Amino acid sequence: MPKFEYAPAPESRSVVDLKSSYGLFINGEFVDGSGTSFKSISPATEEVLAEVSAASEADVDAAVKAARTAYTRVWSKMSGADRGKYLYRIARILQERAREFAVLETLDNGKPIKESRDVDIPLAAAHFFYNAGWADKLGYAALPGGANPQPHGVVGQIIPWNFPMLMLAWKIAPALATGNTVVLKPAETTPLTALLFAEVCQQADLPPGVVNIVTGAGPTGQAIVDHPGIDKLAFTGSTGVGKMIARAISGTRKKATLELGGKAANIVFDDAAIDQAVEGIVTGIFFNQGHVCCAGSRLLVQETIADEVESRLKRRLETLRVGDPLDKNTDVGAINSKAQLDRIIALTDAGEGEGAVRWDNGCELPSKGFWFRPTVFTGVTQTHRIAQEEIFGPVLSVLTFRTPQEAVAKANNTPYGLSAGIWTEKGSRILWMADQLKAGVVWANTFNQFDPTSPFGGYKESGYGREGGRHGLEAYVKGTQS
Ligand code: NAP
Ligand code: MG
Repeated sequence: MPKFEYAPAPESRSVVDLKSSYGLFINGEFVDGSGTSFKSISPATEEVLAEVSAASEADVDAAVKAARTAYTRVWSKMSGADRGKYLYRIARILQERAREFAVLETLDNGKPIKESRDVDIPLAAAHFFYNAGWADKLGYAALPGGANPQPHGVVGQIIPWNFPMLMLAWKIAPALATGNTVVLKPAETTPLTALLFAEVCQQADLPPGVVNIVTGAGPTGQAIVDHPGIDKLAFTGSTGVGKMIARAISGTRKKATLELGGKAANIVFDDAAIDQAVEGIVTGIFFNQGHVCCAGSRLLVQETIADEVESRLKRRLETLRVGDPLDKNTDVGAINSKAQLDRIIALTDAGEGEGAVRWDNGCELPSKGFWFRPTVFTGVTQTHRIAQEEIFGPVLSVLTFRTPQEAVAKANNTPYGLSAGIWTEKGSRILWMADQLKAGVVWANTFNQFDPTSPFGGYKESGYGREGGRHGLEAYVKGTQS
């Protein structure tokens, strides 16, 4: 199919005021920290964007102490209505500075500007608005603690690189609304929007120490997990690190919620509207380069329509524009890091080695940076690694089924259980399937829809606890297991 050539339509970088180096945000101020430093790069060009401090154990200790003092002296004494005012203020500033955040997110992460501009940043602001609304109504939210739910105190929060600002909002907004103070660590490859958010906290006059941002890699995260002054941990990331955290805090009084990996089935029945389903398959796995925990990475398609879906899907994938993430026409951006690209290459090589049939859209890739072509594997069986392990890249594994029972059995046959999609015109089948699927979120005739009012979280090795909605507040008040 001919692809129209579009003139480049780059978003301007000039809205972002990048500093050459950034410190840690502790007690309302940027400080140098006592550790080393690291560089954050643009994965699309390998250009160094900034030098960032790596928080040492002593820096994490200072951040936890600042959070404790702010909790005891200020935040736990403030009324919910007043906490809500700060959260509304932060939400409004995020909207006012949305373009700056979107461009910085795209530079640091590699995701297309149309996604950071239309999804990540608006949703991050929406989470602050939503939780601001709860801050003075917690007594009516049917939370543990009834009319007077109590915060945990100081919360340690560790987030991944795939949705840096959105994951920050999922963590900080409900924690602050319920009266906790936080120490948050962004991922090593994407620290810059969290540091811009620290500026927003200053701009909103948030009392010092309520939000502390400590940048760094795994050891900084470990220092948060191990710190005795942390009352609750909220982690989003890989199942491997999640398990280490669960082990590290067992036998302590620390509470935890874990949002981990996924290997979602996107299930297409023969009565589905096929063109809509193809769009949903594309959104499901190629949105954000497939760096999505709830990505529809396994397509389960009913055998009678498998050939037709496959050919329409491939035709559609040939129109995807892969390249400069700052270009408004770009559909698929850069892979977030060299390490992640290597993981994708290793797993896709294993898929070929195990006998699955590999296809990619053959697009040209930029010469610098980290890139991977939208890829589809057909002839995949249940035992293949690409059907079991999370690839976390723009790679779809296609399997077939004959009956709804077989679709359910195959969909549930993974260690994960985060999300699933169902495409059919029959409402009764949607309800029956949703009931059988072991997945925290089930989308029907759509995929990757997010809303701050809707809880999100996993079954099995996808973790425990829920984020978003009223359920998301529960993890931040006393009296629950999580
Ligand atoms: P990761 O390696 O587990 O990293 C997540 C965070 O944990 C990062 O900030 C990381 O720091 C930090 N970390 C690494 N080692 C640590 C340790 N020993 N102690 C404490 N913290 C530590 O995961 P990732 O590769 O960045 O992210 C991809 C994974 O996240 C995928 O499996 C994906 O499915 C999952 N994810 C889940 C959700 C969800 O809501 N369920 C959402 C998004 C992503 P550095 O990055 O600085 O090393
Ligand atoms: Mg980066």
